[in-house]
Amino acid sequence: MQMKQREFKIDKETNFSEWYNTIIYGAELADIRYNVKGFVVFRPWAVAAMKRMYAAYEKELEKTGHGPAWFPALIPEKNLMKEAKHVEGFVPEVFWVEKAGETKLEERLAMRPTSETAMYPMYALWIQSASDLPLKIYHSSQVWRHETKATKPFIRSREFYWIEAHDVYATREESEAQVREDMQIARKVITQKLGVPFVFFQRPQWDKFPGALHTFAADTLMPDGKVIQQPSTHLLGQNFSKAFDISFTDEKGNKQFGWQTCYGPAISRIYASVISMHGDSKGLVLPPIIAPIQIVIVPIARKGSGDPLVKKALQIKEALEQKDWRVHIDSRDKTPGFKFNDWEMKGVPMRIEMGERELEKLSVTLALRDSGEKRTVLEKDLEKRVMQEAEAMTKRMLEKAEKWFTARLNTASTEKDLVKRLDKGGMVRIPFCTLEMNGMPCAESLKKKHAIDVRGTRYDQKEKPSGKETCVMCGKTAAVYVFAGRQY
Ligand SMILES: [Zn+2]
Repeated sequence: MQMKQREFKIDKETNFSEWYNTIIYGAELADIRYNVKGFVVFRPWAVAAMKRMYAAYEKELEKTGHGPAWFPALIPEKNLMKEAKHVEGFVPEVFWVEKAGETKLEERLAMRPTSETAMYPMYALWIQSASDLPLKIYHSSQVWRHETKATKPFIRSREFYWIEAHDVYATREESEAQVREDMQIARKVITQKLGVPFVFFQRPQWDKFPGALHTFAADTLMPDGKVIQQPSTHLLGQNFSKAFDISFTDEKGNKQFGWQTCYGPAISRIYASVISMHGDSKGLVLPPIIAPIQIVIVPIARKGSGDPLVKKALQIKEALEQKDWRVHIDSRDKTPGFKFNDWEMKGVPMRIEMGERELEKLSVTLALRDSGEKRTVLEKDLEKRVMQEAEAMTKRMLEKAEKWFTARLNTASTEKDLVKRLDKGGMVRIPFCTLEMNGMPCAESLKKKHAIDVRGTRYDQKEKPSGKETCVMCGKTAAVYVFAGRQY
């Protein structure tokens, strides 16, 4: 059956902002009209998918020995002030609670901007001897930061949803291995399950998590070629364990401080990348694993002849639900064309169309959201086919995304060349003086002159410049290759 398809004709690469807003409202994902500035309402279609992203992430964290915990949202001011760099980094963004009813509180309480200073005083109580280690805990929650940049649903708002994992080890080596495990988990969930490629960078010293020794953060790209940060994992060293007295007695009876890591996948931010990486000019394209509805059945009946079709649709729905598929029958009094457009906007991975002719032939039409292909499938083969098609779709979405992403990683060796390449978007590798603090003026100058950010050295490629290459900014011998891009 031929249906006229509506496309909203906004190219996401050249007009990303308008495209993104069209999807946010068209697929009913979020609403920014809530009357506290910078706070966004996330709607059911988005939250139903994000809960599945939480579940996928939590499963991997638990498989690697993390236990879930819930920590309070309020943090006493004195906890927050314990680690000097952390204070400097987060206090300017804190929302404070100062009153309870009409009574002024004796001590101000911070709405957690991140949970180190809520969790670590408790860790100090729980860790006494080496046998209490490692301690691996994750916390699924939201945090609040008074962001001053413009709000964009899922990309940036003053309240966002994430997971934080906070681990303590007896040795530095073990904590470094944890950082690598965090990267692996990100790869498993975000790339393999959700089809979003990224690169992990070691951030420069001037751009690390406040209080950490080193920060490693994943970056991916938005359709307009700008960089967006994905999860980051931090080697905290002993800075926090010393500030909070997270210590244990070793076998020789000596006091030792723990080696810590923290890891923060922001679920709402990852969802922004899923929307942006896979969506097209008909709307969202959701990876099957997180789609709130994976298969929508649209019975196409002529007037007054619908009963056998409805019955058949119900049979198919029940059979698929037996195999754990999330299925919905669209029996609204609307045209098939309207329904097709509606579910395509919402990104439902598969659609089963069935009319009387199909019913006679004991077959259905299976339409695939990502490629737009349609297949005729015999009813008896449907359960098997749906499984195969979902797997193929997940693979196809990742391949397409990886091809797009990889084509946007380039190299340059001069400032002029860098700017020219970045005007087309992406991330560009350049020779650079150093990631230590004395490289900061070069990074600041890039930012000020061209709005370009230094993202750091690629973690998975240890390649170093030859002694002949020079920093694109200061002309000193380059010690590292860094990637640079324009940040979201
Ligand atoms: Zn330099």
